Amino acid sequence: MATKDKKKDETKALREKLFFETKNQWGEVAKSSRKEAFAFAEDYKKALDEGKTERLYVDYALAELKKAGYKPLSEAKSLKAGDKVYQVVRDRAIVAAKIGKDDPRDGFNLVGAHIDSPRLDLKPQPVYEASELVLLKTHYYGGIKKYQWAATPLAIKGVLYKEDGTEVQLDIGDKENDPVFTVTDLLPHLGKDQMVKKASEVISGEQLNVLIGGLPYDDEETKDRFKLGLLNLLYEEYGITEKDFVTAEIEVVPAGKAKDVGFDRAFLGAYGQDDRVCAYTAMKALLDSGTLKRTGMVVLYDKEETGSDGNTGASSALYQYVQHEIMKKMLGQPPTIGDVFENQAHTVVISSDVTAAHDPSFPEVSDPLNVSKVGHGIAIAKYGGVRGKGGTSDASSELFSALTACFNKANVAWQAGEMGKVDQGGGGTVAKFQAALGMEVIDCGVPTLSMHSLFEITSKIDVYETYRAYKAFLETMEPIRNQKF
Ligand code: MN
Ligand code: MN
Repeated sequence: MATKDKKKDETKALREKLFFETKNQWGEVAKSSRKEAFAFAEDYKKALDEGKTERLYVDYALAELKKAGYKPLSEAKSLKAGDKVYQVVRDRAIVAAKIGKDDPRDGFNLVGAHIDSPRLDLKPQPVYEASELVLLKTHYYGGIKKYQWAATPLAIKGVLYKEDGTEVQLDIGDKENDPVFTVTDLLPHLGKDQMVKKASEVISGEQLNVLIGGLPYDDEETKDRFKLGLLNLLYEEYGITEKDFVTAEIEVVPAGKAKDVGFDRAFLGAYGQDDRVCAYTAMKALLDSGTLKRTGMVVLYDKEETGSDGNTGASSALYQYVQHEIMKKMLGQPPTIGDVFENQAHTVVISSDVTAAHDPSFPEVSDPLNVSKVGHGIAIAKYGGVRGKGGTSDASSELFSALTACFNKANVAWQAGEMGKVDQGGGGTVAKFQAALGMEVIDCGVPTLSMHSLFEITSKIDVYETYRAYKAFLETMEPIRNQKF
């Protein structure tokens, strides 16, 4: 019997030594850490509720940075270890940095996430009346399943500028007594033809029209009196006219608050967790970080969901400009082009984005050996892309192993996975844009269920582990072996 037990123990030890198996972290962490993970989720929920658009998330992040003593980069004459600065990028993105002791030419530790999410944008001339309903025309933004946006409460958020330059902010649908808005869907009784359509055509792009009103202007003789009634109301309330919508930037997003999910509240459900879960954990990690050896930078990008283009997307030179300004103020003189290249070559980047988690209701889309699991900690992806890794930045083995060593030292739970089965689809992140500058970049973030839906699901333990991972990265990541060339 004793020999049998001994053999069993030996086998177990050998398995643990030779196999790589990740574990569900709820079963691994002490009760006290569970409590910490739950507490962490509370403040994160507030960030989700406040920051449902990239502009609103910038406002939220800026308030947090100011509270923590971060100053505008433009106001800093010089920068030394311990200094904390931020730079807002055209109201839709933001960079925060905490200066480290090392020379800027040795590179920074950078965590980059994105704060835009799939949604419906208003068209330039959105308001119209049809069959005595007043509606708004929209143009969807990012990868959505269009049918998910019908028959659900929606909020309207954004900014307009009046002729005289006055800014008007719209934010309706989330406050206690606010009305909400909606895209109507067909009743099943009359859905015979609709129900046999492909899911991509069940609701078409031109059917994503948002119901916003139904009270007529008090003059039966006039044409479009329902539209006139609505515009009259908007003018009285906000002083805006139809023309102001033409130049506006207004987004339609799901109404409602972030919620705990499950009897045991293990999960968190909300719109826009892709990628505000990584934006929140990255920023929080920087705010909570101790003294830094290497300068720590967190960049919250815009426009990831449409390919990172535009002057607020990750491909914009504005981010290089910010990095250049930080170097200049650290060095006390403008860096040479060589200094800039050196900094970029030695900068280590976490491209911080969510990934698809294994969903037992749709097991056919992922390879069980190479899929991230909810509850198993931060998920690292060596590469993304589609088909033969098309359009990916494939991280080096040197970087990947250095990163996992960094996480292991901090006792962070990590796993590795691909987005889905080969040839099933795929996706990209901001990684390739930093990689194009010569930086060492790897993707990692929170495994997510129902990604890109109106109600995305994460595990609170993964959110917490991701925060711990980013903090360990910012505080302890070192330049890696192959960087000196
Ligand atoms: Mn994303
Ligand atoms: Mn996305």
